[in-house]
Amino acid sequence: MENLENKSFKDFENIPGLGPDERACEWAAYVDNWQSRGHWNYRQESFSGCGPVAELRIAGNPHQQFVSLVSNDYLGFTQHPKVKAAAIAAIEQYGTGAGASPAIGGHYHFHREIEESIAAFFKRESAIVYTTGYTANSAMLQCLLKKEDLAILDMAVHASVQEGCILTNIKTFPHNNLEALERILRISQDQYRTRMVIIDGVYSQDGDLAPLYQIVALCKLYGAYIVVDDAHGTGVIGETGRGVIELYDLFQEIDIITGTFSKSFAHVGGYVVAKPGVVEYLKFHSRQHIFSATLPPAAACISTAIRLVDDEPEWQHKLWANIRYFKNGLLELGLDTGNTASAIIPVKTGDPQLAAEATKLLLEAGVYANQIGYPAVSKKDARVRMSLMATHTQEHLDQVLNAWQWVDGKLKVSQLKPIAYGYKEEAT
Ligand code: PMP
Repeated sequence: MENLENKSFKDFENIPGLGPDERACEWAAYVDNWQSRGHWNYRQESFSGCGPVAELRIAGNPHQQFVSLVSNDYLGFTQHPKVKAAAIAAIEQYGTGAGASPAIGGHYHFHREIEESIAAFFKRESAIVYTTGYTANSAMLQCLLKKEDLAILDMAVHASVQEGCILTNIKTFPHNNLEALERILRISQDQYRTRMVIIDGVYSQDGDLAPLYQIVALCKLYGAYIVVDDAHGTGVIGETGRGVIELYDLFQEIDIITGTFSKSFAHVGGYVVAKPGVVEYLKFHSRQHIFSATLPPAAACISTAIRLVDDEPEWQHKLWANIRYFKNGLLELGLDTGNTASAIIPVKTGDPQLAAEATKLLLEAGVYANQIGYPAVSKKDARVRMSLMATHTQEHLDQVLNAWQWVDGKLKVSQLKPIAYGYKEEAT
C-alpha cells in the first residue's frame, strides 16, 4: 500500500481480494510506518491504576510518571476507598465470577440492586444492566428495531449505536442539525412501524452537548421515540450529575436512557433505563443479555459509586473547577478547543500527522493524551483529546498547560485556522 502515513484504520477494515492474513500483513506495515515516526501511542501499557498520573515505561522517554488525560473516570471513583471496599466485600461474599447468563443462574442480588439504583438515579422505575455500555446500546437497539423500522442518528453517535442499527433502516443527520432532523422526521412519516431518534447527551470526541430540549420537542411533534446515550454526561453535567437530561429536566420525556458504568461509575458495564414493560421484554429478547454471562460480583461497587454522586457532590464541583481552569488556560494559549461543554477537552489540529506529533511531544514533556483521527472523527477534524478528572490537581494541569505552550512553540498549532466543527464518521 502506498502513502501509509495518510491511511487510517478504516482503510484496513476490508481490502478487496485480501484474506485475514494478508490484511494483517498490510496492517503491520501501517503500524511500523507510524511507529518509525514515534507516532504510535495506542495500547500504551500502564503500570498504575486509573488516575490523574499514569506510570508508563516507554523506550527512550525520560519520564516514568505522566500526567494522564486519558481516563473517563471523571469523578475519580475508581480509587475511592468506599468503592474499592464495596468491590472487595462483594468478592469476599460472592467470589469472582457470576458463572452464567442471567436467565439461567447468573442473576444475583447485587445485579437487582444496580438495576434499581440506576433507574432511581434517573427518577425512573426500571432498568436492565448489560456487561458493557457498548452492549447496552447494541443489544437494546438490535432487539427493538427491525427491518420495518427506522433509526434516525446524529452522525456523531457512538459506534455501539451504529452497530445496534444493523438490523434496521438508518438515516443520519449532520451533528446537532435540527433542520436536517426535522426534514427526516417529516419525510419519513407513515413509512415505518417505529421511528427512533438516537443521540448522545455529551458527544465523546468534541465534548459538546445535544440540544436536547428541541430534539425531544421534535420527536413528540412527529411521534418518534427518543433514545439518549449520556455515557459522558452522567456524573458530570447537571446540578446533581444526572447529565444533559437533568439540564432540561426531561427525566420523564426520554423514552430510553442508556449509558455506561465504566466512566463516572468507576467499574464496567452498561444500562438501559426504560418503561417497565420494555425492560422486561429486553431481559428475555436481547440476545447479548440472555446468551452471555452477567457482570461479576465486584460490580456491586457500582451501587456505591451511584450513591456517592449524591453523598459527595464535592467531586463533581472539583471536576468543574478543573474544567474551567484548564479550558481557560488552553484558550489563553490560543488553542482551539471546539465547542466542548464537558470534561472532554479536545485541541484541534485538523491534521492527523500534527495530532500525532503533538501527542508525541506531549509524552516527551511528561503528559499522556490521546491522538484522535479518522474514523473516530473526520480526517480534517483530527485532534488531541484530553479528559479531566476531579482528582487532577492544579499542579497537574499547570504541567499540561506548560507542555502545550512548549508544543505550540514547535508546531504552531495555535496559528491554524479554526475548522468547522461537528461532523464525525464513527465515534469511539
Ligand atoms: N457510549 C458512548 C457515548 C461512549 O463514549 C462509550 C465508550 N467510549 C460507550 C457508549 C461504550 O461504553 P463502554 O466503554 O462501557 O462499553
